[in-house]
Amino acid sequence: MTEKTSTYQNVIRQFDKAADLMGLDPEIRKILSKTTNEITVNFPVKMDDGRIEMFRGYRVQHNNVLGPYKGGLRFHPSVDIDEVRALATWMTWKSVIINIPFGGAKGGIQCDPANYSTRELERITRRFTFALGCAIGPEYDIPAPDVNTNAQIMAWILDTYLSMMPPLERNRSLHVVTGKPIESGGSLGRDKATGQGIVFVIEQWARDQGFDLKGATYTVQGFGNVGSWTARLLKPHGARLVAVEDVSGSFSNPEGLDADDLSDYAKAHRGRIAGYPQATPIDPEAIFSTQADILIPAAMENQITAVTAPLLNVRLVVEGANGPTDADGEAILAERGIGVLPDVLCNAGGVMVSYFEWLQNKRSEFWDLEEVDSKLYRKMVSAYERVRDATQAYDVDWRTAAYIVALSRLAKVYKERGIFP
Ligand code: NAD
Repeated sequence: MTEKTSTYQNVIRQFDKAADLMGLDPEIRKILSKTTNEITVNFPVKMDDGRIEMFRGYRVQHNNVLGPYKGGLRFHPSVDIDEVRALATWMTWKSVIINIPFGGAKGGIQCDPANYSTRELERITRRFTFALGCAIGPEYDIPAPDVNTNAQIMAWILDTYLSMMPPLERNRSLHVVTGKPIESGGSLGRDKATGQGIVFVIEQWARDQGFDLKGATYTVQGFGNVGSWTARLLKPHGARLVAVEDVSGSFSNPEGLDADDLSDYAKAHRGRIAGYPQATPIDPEAIFSTQADILIPAAMENQITAVTAPLLNVRLVVEGANGPTDADGEAILAERGIGVLPDVLCNAGGVMVSYFEWLQNKRSEFWDLEEVDSKLYRKMVSAYERVRDATQAYDVDWRTAAYIVALSRLAKVYKERGIFP
C-alpha cells in the first residue's frame, strides 16, 4: 500500500521552488512557510436516535497580514490537519493573486455527510460553530462553502454565530460567513462564481493561444459546485464535455454531454451523476486517459500524480479543485509538454465574489448580477495577466509564476512593516 501523499508537503515543494527561483528573503521564507494558528476541536453531537457521537473539526489560519483570514469549510472523511493546513496556505496566495484584502484560512469536519440526516447535519454544524466561538468573526476569520458544504450550512453557521453575540452586535455581523442564501445576505453570482472565474481564465488563455473554444473538447472530474458550473458556463462557447466523473462513477459521451441537463439530473439524484441516461460508464482511470483538449479536475487534491500524469491525453489542465496536481505529477506533465493553469489563479473567482458579498453586507448594499459579474471579470482578467506576465518575466510555469506574484507582494509588506516588537 502506498503512503497517503502529504498535501502540505506538496504546498511546501511548490513554495520552495518559487522562493528559490525569485530569491525570497530567508527571513520572510521562515514566516510564510508556517501557519499562524491551528485550532482542533472535538465536540459531541446528539444523533436522531439519542446516541452521542464525537466529531473532530479544524480551523487553520495561515496568514492575515493583508486582511482577515478567509477560507472555506469542508465536510469530508479525508479532512485532517495536514489537508487543512495546505488548503489554508493556498488561500493566502489566492487572495494576493486576485488582489483582495484577505488572508488565508480553511477548516472542516472529518465526517461523511452522506451518513447523517439533515437534522443531524444541522446539529453538527451548529455545535462546530459553537466550539469555534470567537476563533471566527466578521472582521477576523470568515468561512465559506467548500466540498460538501453549501448555502444552507452557511445559514446555520450565521444563525449560531449571531445567537452567541450580544444583541447590539447581531446586525453588524452578517458578514461572518459568505456563500449564504440570498435571502440571508448572500450575493447574487456567488453560487456560480468559482466556475465563472475558471471560464474567464480559459477564455483569456484561449485568446492568447489563438485556440478556438468552439468545438474544443474537455473532461471534468467532480460535478459539484465547481465542476458543474464550469461545464454549464463553457456550454455557450460551444466546447464539448466528453467525459465526467464524480464519487458515483466515471461516464463518457463522445458526442458531448449537456451540462445543464446533467446538472438537473444530479440535483434530482442526491448530487450524483450515476445512471444518467445519455452517458456510458467507463473505467475510473479513463477520466485521465480520455482524449480531449482540456482536463478540468474539480474534485479533490492529489489526483494527477506520478501514477495518473502519464495517462493524460490533453494539452491543458485547468485546476478547478485546490491542489489536484501533486509535485511529482506536475513534473511529469511538464516533461510531456502539458500546460497547467493553477488552482490559485483559476478558482479564485469563489473568494472574489465572497469578498463582494462581505462588502455588500458591511455597506448594507445589494448588487445586481451584472455588477457582480462585470467586477469579477475585470478582477479575473487582471489576475490572469499578472500571472501570465510573470511566466514571461521569470521564464517559469504558471504555478511558479502565480507563487512569485503572491510571495513578492507579501515580502514587500513584511519589509515595510517589520516584525513586532
Ligand atoms: P462539491 O462538494 O460541490 O463537489 C465535489 C464533487 O467532487 C462532487 O461531484 C463529488 O462527487 C466529486 N468527488 C469527490 N471525491 C471525488 C473523487 N475521489 N473522484 C471523483 N470525484 C469526486 O465541492 P466543490 O465546492 O465543487 O469543490 C470542489 C473543489 O473545488 C475542491 O477542491 C474545493 O476546495 C475547490 N474550490 C471550491 C470553491 C467553491 O466556491 N465551492 C472555491 C474554490 C475552490
